[in-house]
Amino acid sequence: MTNHHDTQPGTPAESRRHLLGTSLEAFTAFCAEHDLPAYRAKQVYEWVFRRGADSFEVMTNLSKPLRAMLAEHWVIYTSQVVQRQESTDGTIKLLLQWPDRATSECVLIPDDKRRTACISSQVGCPVGCAFCASGIGGLQRQLSPGEIVEQAMRVRSLFNEANDSSEPRTSARAESLRSASRVHGSAKPDDGLSNIVFMGLGEPLANYGATLAAVRIINADWGMNIGARKITISTVGLPTQIRKLAREGLQVNLAISLHAPNDGLRKKLIPWAKKTSVADLVAAGREFFDVTGREVTLEYILLAGVNDTMEHAHELTRVCRRMRCNVNLIRYNPVADLGFERPDSYAAHRFAEELRSRGVNVHIRKSRGADIDAACGQLRRKNAITTPTRANG
Ligand code: SF4
Repeated sequence: MTNHHDTQPGTPAESRRHLLGTSLEAFTAFCAEHDLPAYRAKQVYEWVFRRGADSFEVMTNLSKPLRAMLAEHWVIYTSQVVQRQESTDGTIKLLLQWPDRATSECVLIPDDKRRTACISSQVGCPVGCAFCASGIGGLQRQLSPGEIVEQAMRVRSLFNEANDSSEPRTSARAESLRSASRVHGSAKPDDGLSNIVFMGLGEPLANYGATLAAVRIINADWGMNIGARKITISTVGLPTQIRKLAREGLQVNLAISLHAPNDGLRKKLIPWAKKTSVADLVAAGREFFDVTGREVTLEYILLAGVNDTMEHAHELTRVCRRMRCNVNLIRYNPVADLGFERPDSYAAHRFAEELRSRGVNVHIRKSRGADIDAACGQLRRKNAITTPTRANG
């Protein structure tokens, strides 16, 4: 499929409903209101989610008048890809622009058996972590369910390119995408993604309703059909929402961005930590495990000389002993002008070993896309000219 923008003269995209954010049930209800049988709704969803259709025009098993009627009421994709960066390690970052000119970043991270899409939940971020580019501009606006799902679909469509035999690509990157999509013995475009992580811009649990609606569409067998266990929601830690998430009946993974093992340092790094203590997070994380049976992941960005000493490792061990969790260590990708540095790999391994020797299940996550603007918010920040006035700062 080509990625042409599904707009019609005289019909602004914003006035139409966003199909990617609509459940099959709601679309079926629309069809019923227009005297269309339920199987028509299924056909449309098959085109969009299985076959990657980006316009009604290509749905050749629907009559022309029906296609025209649908295009009058619905838009499938509302964004335009305004920038794309490719790393030598296969990571691809897309900058999407929405009709109001707000922008969002989403990233494809191919890694042997996993093909992960990292997506954003808000435009900008209200949290303002001291080490993060996204926090600099504050929150601009919430993303809708359709805008969240659309990022995952845009990333998935990168596999369509790699598998499109009519447009042979010879680059190593295209080959890495092709081999990634063959991992489970299939090269079908709709098998492109294996995992979704809400680790882009924004705090997903501060946009709870839209995030959950998007997760259900990504997870649904009529939608993107990605298992809940392959979907990770990453949060700086909102205990009430964590408890609510635990009771949604979804087997999603929860990752808590801890980044510091004590309240004093955490408050310096993460302004929202003033509202929530590490003890509160541990209590919410324990409850999440008790209700779902899913072990919580603690994300910990290693900042040289700030949170990576042996004393910090001992404190982190004490946190880990109070809940069922594993720890992901990430060496910081420096952001210009923020004043934090990346620890060397020796320091990261020493920190990990200290945790491991005390019984903590710990991994050092590979930094991906180091040769592109890989830290969250960097691409959007460089393209600040495309973003509207910030809502707060
Ligand atoms: S690290 Fe995450 S929560 Fe913190 S400012 Fe950046 S996007 Fe927001």
